[in-house]
Amino acid sequence: MGKGFFNVPVAVNEPVKSYAPGTPERTEVLEAYKSLYNSTTDVPLYINGKDITTGNTRTMSPPHDHKHILGQYHLAAKSHVEQAITTALEARKTWSVLPWEQRAAIFLKAAELIAGPYRARINAATMLAQSKTIHQAEIDAACELIDFLRFNVQFMTDIYMEQPESNGDAWNRVEYRPLEGFTYAVTPFNFTAIAGNLPACMALMGNVVVWKPSDSQVFSAKVVMDVFKEAGVPDGVINVVFGDPVMITETVLSSPDFSGLHFTGSTYIFKELWKQIGNNIHSYKTYPRIVGETGGKDFIVAHSSANAKQVATAITRGAFEFQGQKCSAASRAYIPESLWEDVKNFVVEDVNSFKMGSPEDMSNFVTAVIHEGSFDKLAKYIDQAKADSDAEILVGGNYDKSTGYFIEPTVILTTNSKYETMCTELFGPVITIYVYPDNEYSETLALVDETSEYALTGAILATDRYAIDEATVALQNSAGNFYINDKPTGAVVGQQPFGGARASGTNDKAGSAQNLLRWVSPRLIKETFVTPVDYRYPFLG
Ligand code: NAD
Repeated sequence: MGKGFFNVPVAVNEPVKSYAPGTPERTEVLEAYKSLYNSTTDVPLYINGKDITTGNTRTMSPPHDHKHILGQYHLAAKSHVEQAITTALEARKTWSVLPWEQRAAIFLKAAELIAGPYRARINAATMLAQSKTIHQAEIDAACELIDFLRFNVQFMTDIYMEQPESNGDAWNRVEYRPLEGFTYAVTPFNFTAIAGNLPACMALMGNVVVWKPSDSQVFSAKVVMDVFKEAGVPDGVINVVFGDPVMITETVLSSPDFSGLHFTGSTYIFKELWKQIGNNIHSYKTYPRIVGETGGKDFIVAHSSANAKQVATAITRGAFEFQGQKCSAASRAYIPESLWEDVKNFVVEDVNSFKMGSPEDMSNFVTAVIHEGSFDKLAKYIDQAKADSDAEILVGGNYDKSTGYFIEPTVILTTNSKYETMCTELFGPVITIYVYPDNEYSETLALVDETSEYALTGAILATDRYAIDEATVALQNSAGNFYINDKPTGAVVGQQPFGGARASGTNDKAGSAQNLLRWVSPRLIKETFVTPVDYRYPFLG
């Protein structure tokens, strides 16, 4: 930036629209849904600003209506991935030196396009691709993605303003260079916002990107890419490839110019990618940055002083919205004996009142899980709980994949605090509850901490301030996002930076300046005004 210190618009969170009956947004999104449902969409690869069709295609279907075909997407061959890398490196020559305000303007424009003309389409695509209710689509594909784009611009300028002290005879300046080489974004199915943010935030900081979306999110990823194109992201800056994740990743990670991985997805895959990067370390020109936000086994702990209705609502909202497929979804709960009868009755009553079906029917609270693999896995755990003597199904427990991958919201009650579904991430609408003696609160907190390998989100519900303090201390390493008297889901960009440690990730906090710092390599420039001309220091006499 040469000719002014520009202020960026102050970032504000996008208001969530209600979609209540009779509202214009409800009519608009249902029209967009029908139009996408009744047409056939062809999704090409996107390399160097061009749509690339390979002829090697796979179909896309809504998880809640899996016999219906929404269209097809094209699969990359190794040569396409290599082309994406070459093209990104070429684009870097101009993108990495473009003044920051030009980059900022592109992504601010993308935010406004989603807030306005693309809102109905991106929400409808997310309802179809990922089976989100309109509320879940709105808080993800519209609001959270808008927030990421707006706040990242503000965080970028906050970072740029971090400058060292200078004394009179020298001037110290830090410039926040993009990483040398190209970066790689690998994104999960469950949030359109995360899919858009991972490549966009690296590009905003001046990097060039190869982006591999999840096979189960291609349909809504296309809308994200359409927005980026219309917003003016130049050719080659963000290149999208679909297909075999192993081949694509091996090709990317074997390039000497690979300089950073921005991953969100499951723990096992992230560890595998880390290992591959380690194995290739001698071939890279620079040490790659590795950021991964991964799995969770998120907890709710109630203390005997908690309000039973609040505990039940935290469970039903925290565990079952978006079919429990949020990384932050509550999937294990610890309830004191004295509260259990009330909590149980409220939870069962709530779950029995849920309607399940297509998101097109807006009275449905839950819809289908993402694919057959997930359905079969969840059905297996439910059947196991029916058979095991230390577990019982309190409510739910049915499933049916004839039309869509529908798993009834299910509560498992166990007498075994280390029962398998208390420890393993299932990623579906299943929560397991363990009831503990009121006088074993401290022991239960220790149990919460040691039961799972993850440390993503967790919640304590209590009115007793000493109990809240004890949990805050005892669980300080058990969750990267810790909630007091709330459900453990629903982090908002700019308000609750998101991420966890242990097996849940590198905790680089999506939706904060900390994350953006990973995508720059600062250069210090010291300029001395009166340069010495004699090597002798005074002490030499
Ligand atoms: P996933 O790990 O199956 O897939 C994530 C991405 O990795 C996809 O793009 C996929 O194609 C790719 N991938 C899969 N196998 C690969 C391989 N062998 N090599 C290279 N890439 C590969 O995860 P998912 O099912 O899409 O998402 C759910 C998971 O993501 C859950 O574990 C959830 O907890 C986690 N998640 C975490 C956060 C967070 O912020 N911590 C946010 C969202 C999701």
